[in-house]
Amino acid sequence: MSRINVLDQKTANAIKAGEVIERPVSVVKELVDNSIDACATSVKIEFDNGGISLIRVSDNGFGMDREDAEKCFLLNATSKIKTIDDIYDLTTQGFRGEALASIAACSDITVVTKMEDMKTGTCIEYEDGRLKGISEVAADTGTVVTVKNLFANIPARYKFLKRDATESMYICSLVEKLAIINPQVAFKLIKDGKQILSTPGNGNMKDAIYAIYGKELTASLVEINYELDGIKIKGFAANPSYVRGNRGMQYVYVNDRPIKSAVATAAIDEAYKASVMKHKYPVCVLCIYIPAGGVDVNVHPQKAEVKFSDDSIIFRLVLHGIRNAVFAQESVVLSAPSVEKPVAEATPVATAVSKPHTLGSRQPERSTYTQADAGATDNLLRILSEFKPDVSKIENEDKPEEPEEENIIEEPATDRSDIDELYASEFVGFLFSTYIIMQSDHDVFLVDQHAAHERVLYERFGKKREAMDETQRSVQELLIPQIIDLSTADMSFVTDNIDRFKQFGFDVDIAGDRQVALRAVPIATKAEDRLKKMSKPEVFFTQVLEDLKRETPAKSQMWISLIQTTACKAAIKAHDVITKEEALSLISQLHECNDPYHCAHGRPTFIKIPETDMEKRFKRIV
Ligand code: ADP
Ligand code: MG
Repeated sequence: MSRINVLDQKTANAIKAGEVIERPVSVVKELVDNSIDACATSVKIEFDNGGISLIRVSDNGFGMDREDAEKCFLLNATSKIKTIDDIYDLTTQGFRGEALASIAACSDITVVTKMEDMKTGTCIEYEDGRLKGISEVAADTGTVVTVKNLFANIPARYKFLKRDATESMYICSLVEKLAIINPQVAFKLIKDGKQILSTPGNGNMKDAIYAIYGKELTASLVEINYELDGIKIKGFAANPSYVRGNRGMQYVYVNDRPIKSAVATAAIDEAYKASVMKHKYPVCVLCIYIPAGGVDVNVHPQKAEVKFSDDSIIFRLVLHGIRNAVFAQESVVLSAPSVEKPVAEATPVATAVSKPHTLGSRQPERSTYTQADAGATDNLLRILSEFKPDVSKIENEDKPEEPEEENIIEEPATDRSDIDELYASEFVGFLFSTYIIMQSDHDVFLVDQHAAHERVLYERFGKKREAMDETQRSVQELLIPQIIDLSTADMSFVTDNIDRFKQFGFDVDIAGDRQVALRAVPIATKAEDRLKKMSKPEVFFTQVLEDLKRETPAKSQMWISLIQTTACKAAIKAHDVITKEEALSLISQLHECNDPYHCAHGRPTFIKIPETDMEKRFKRIV
């Protein structure tokens, strides 16, 4: 007796559906892809209960006529390709012609669609995988797909769904991804009846990013534009101080398709390796464009993975794309000494060599910047510009690991010789209002004032924390409550988590539909005055909000990230003009630190340039 059954269509579809439609977010993905393929400029996504009870996607695309509306539910029914060769030239998101068939197999689905030149639209309903009805209806141009009771007929799959909140989060983060890569489309996202995201659809990617993530994140982004062997990379990458606790905001697209790519991820890590702590992930939006033939998108039913014909090119493309954009600025600072006034008036540069002093002899003593010094200064700048700082020592040292749960103080740095030498060295001047120049017998030191202060504050905050319990945390009352505008997504997050914010010392209340009033911010340091200066309190608040939103870390982790944020915010910034006394005091405080070599984010706090390096450059010695 024959044992092989040819499965009936319904069973076959249900199996297929399992591959394509794994969870509610897969439905959203397929439907939005279809809207984009239909050239929609406006796409509205509504969902209830994490998408399990309802998903509706409405677009203003070109719609379907009645014949196509009937056909679109058939497995392998697609208008996008005719033969297999076409998939290498794809400009559409879909092509497999299995999404609608799959969704119909595992939910109740209704499609209402109308083409522009038609008077009436078509409504098609499927229930439990079976056609229920076709009718003529009044409709706007475009397509509205409504999906209800997902997996109600597939209990095994239903069982694997997560909490509504988790499924919701998947949907939100997918829509964010799609909205960024399709800035020409105005997206609206409505969750349980409430609009939580809206993008302008003006074609500008940065505006889309701004609409979703707000000012702070957008301001940290540097534009990427790079090409290697005919493969292009565009997009944005954050400067290394803007990091996340996970990869959730590292977006990679290939030919406008959001993908996961181990190669790209490895290249991102490599690009930021020297400047970001372990387990911290800078935000980036990387759009890779590969000409036909260089990539196979047909390796994954949900098209979430792609196969590159040459992984190593992709690696180098991403690596150099990011490095050129993000770290170019740093080298510009060193490599482009401006001829007129290389230093601010208030920050004299002394070029005469004087004896290193001991701590006790640190008298405020200013030399004046004269014309005669200018040539010498230029020389110094040129040396610096050509000097490739030997950071290998710093890099190769074990970076401070992510502090463990309660233990925020890292291992003390074992080699103190450089910091001791710096501490005993002599003040020379300032560069670009950003670096403090110090000189010892045989070395020049450049101290990054921001990085150094950040380290000092980071350790101070951390130490203080040991002696603090929940209630003792200090809070800084603001003189005038700050009204802060938030995105709808952020607003809903703050509303849901307001107690947590209060617990951490933010006195914050709902002040309007998309506004909160901030009355106090947490502080844990004597650096109140710095804090006031820096701390636009609203910036502090939104920064912490971002951290919490993305990471949902354990409580103590959250406190740690709060301290890190506070340290960074309170620190002296590059270009803040500080006095010589402040510079010297900063260096003494840095000397006290457990790890004086890195800021809270792992960047070096100072670099050392040996005199012999200069002598070599001037060919005094070989
Ligand atoms: P695919 O997108 O792979 O072609 P789908 O099952 O997603 O397969 O859709 C089948 C067909 O239905 C599409 O090729 C397209 O012609 C039509 N279609 C689906 N959604 C829409 C829409 N929102 N607007 C216009 N046409 C659509
Ligand atoms: Mg499709």
